[in-house]
Amino acid sequence: MSSKKDKPRDKKENQKIWLIIILSIVLIALIIGLGIFYVNNKEKEDENTLSYTDLIKELSDGNIEKIEMTVGSTTLKVKQKDVEEEKTTIVPNTESFMELVQQKVAEGNEIDLNQKPKSFLSQIPSFVISFLPTAIMLALFIMIFKMQGLGEKGKVYDDTERKTKIKFDDVAGLDEEKEELVEIVEFLKKPEKFTKMGAKIPKGVLLYGKPGTGKTLIAKAIAGEADVPFISMSGSEFIEMFAGLGASRVRKLFEKARKLSPCIVFIDEIDAIGSRRTSNSGAETENNQTLNQLLVEMDGFSSEETIIVLAATNRPEMLDKALLRPGRFDRQITIPTPDLNGRLEILKIHSKDKRISEDVNLESIAEDTAGFTGAELANILNEAAIIATKRKHDDIEKDDIEEAVKKVTVGLEKRARVISEKDKKLTAYHEAGHAVVSKYLPTQTDVKEVSIIPRGVAGGYTMYKSDEDKYYISKTEMKEKLVALLGGRAAEKLVLDDISTGASNDIEVATKIARDMVTKYGMSDNLGPIDFQGKEPYEMQLFGENIGDKIGQEVKELIDNAYKEAQNLLKEHRDKLDKIAETLLQKEKINEEDFKKFFE
Ligand code: ADP
Ligand code: MG
Ligand code: ZN
Repeated sequence: MSSKKDKPRDKKENQKIWLIIILSIVLIALIIGLGIFYVNNKEKEDENTLSYTDLIKELSDGNIEKIEMTVGSTTLKVKQKDVEEEKTTIVPNTESFMELVQQKVAEGNEIDLNQKPKSFLSQIPSFVISFLPTAIMLALFIMIFKMQGLGEKGKVYDDTERKTKIKFDDVAGLDEEKEELVEIVEFLKKPEKFTKMGAKIPKGVLLYGKPGTGKTLIAKAIAGEADVPFISMSGSEFIEMFAGLGASRVRKLFEKARKLSPCIVFIDEIDAIGSRRTSNSGAETENNQTLNQLLVEMDGFSSEETIIVLAATNRPEMLDKALLRPGRFDRQITIPTPDLNGRLEILKIHSKDKRISEDVNLESIAEDTAGFTGAELANILNEAAIIATKRKHDDIEKDDIEEAVKKVTVGLEKRARVISEKDKKLTAYHEAGHAVVSKYLPTQTDVKEVSIIPRGVAGGYTMYKSDEDKYYISKTEMKEKLVALLGGRAAEKLVLDDISTGASNDIEVATKIARDMVTKYGMSDNLGPIDFQGKEPYEMQLFGENIGDKIGQEVKELIDNAYKEAQNLLKEHRDKLDKIAETLLQKEKINEEDFKKFFE
């Protein structure tokens, strides 16, 4: 089948042998050098690490006496009370960790906290410095190798290949999607059964879905269920400096897959290589070669070769149509953001290994998190565990989770930040503006909390009750959403006759909604139900010379009208706006119940 590979390459053969000899010498030097380095550092190398979980535990128990950290690095040195040598720990989030440490210090724990400034040299491990010359030489040779196209046979796999233990049971919700994929698992397990019957199994399955919805997870679960190797690569890795390298990586990926068959090849972010082939300029030519190679490989293997290619993307509209033809990714599965039940199942799976208090009702958390992805839900439970540790709770309590939800959605509460009276007033009116306006908009959900305590980058926030899961959003609802979003800016203008940068995120979101209404959902009466998104300039011209201007006008009109309506509502209910803003200035926060009282 692959007689092409045996084609002699006489001219380059000599050159290649030389390069291999030189490379070997460099490699031997490097190995000897590394050997010396390790001997020298042997004492330091002993089991000197402390896991993050253990560190938190030790810290809570007051067993840490010294922490040494370098600004900008997540690696810490810690000294435990009863242990001689210092240990190293990598922390996932230095900000959260430092808060915990500071809290401990405030409680009277004696912790010698040593923060070193970021120094250029200290960040480079010593062995890197001593081997810099060798490394540079090595890099040079690799570059020469690749530029001459000889690198093809080099062993530069940076894909991962291993069997995973993940099973369908680890993927919550997504029952219908799993059902569709069971057939693929069966095929990987017993290909003969299918081929004997003459059944056609798809070669490629494309998974569409937002980041964090579990595409990678489900791909791994297929491999885990079938007990076959999982070979993966990310599309963005294929984009390389040297022409032809992307294509050669694809070739190698499939060479390997053939050896390991039956197996799964997973290509994440396939849009990075598989985006539409348009012009032939620069980077795009490289893309085309990579994409063409992928198509060649997929067409090349027969269905008896038990390889299933799974690919994931969150931008299906970007994909080259050639990828979707029969015999390639002819099956497409949408991985949705989880619905109520899906969220509950995900929360259940991720709370299994955590200590959750009896008072926690996962159902109600699932209700409050419409629109959240699996990754976000998993993240919430992790954050809740950290918060519970900080608050010295025995297990994760209801308000730990509520705080975690807020942290994940709007960022961390920053009570310590000093804010001028003027800024406070501005924020109070801005948030009160959102809250009052949405109260008078029938389609908008109830306000759950209004606050002017800074969180993350936001000066304040208005939280709404979560919507029940919906499949469709009406035009009225979208228009009213625009009004609610612009309520903050409208209040600033109305009361303080000045406007601030605080509304930038609202404006960004509103603009996107308005643009989608016109160009994606066909909600503009003047332009009609046409999809204008992701069109090439020549395609756009079909709709007339000035179509861009017309779209702009329609978007602007939606925003202008919404802004006017927000101002009118606020003028009409100015008394409510003032009262709520004043209360916010006094109390900083208003909850759902108290908010309702203003309108009784
Ligand atoms: P994607 O590839 O779609 O961006 P991932 O598969 O990488 O998303 O998901 C990230 C993490 O989120 C997973 O490792 C898992 O912890 C969690 N997660 C996402 N979806 C689910 C789900 N349906 N069930 C359980 N966990 C999930
Ligand atoms: Mg992924
Ligand atoms: Zn706002």
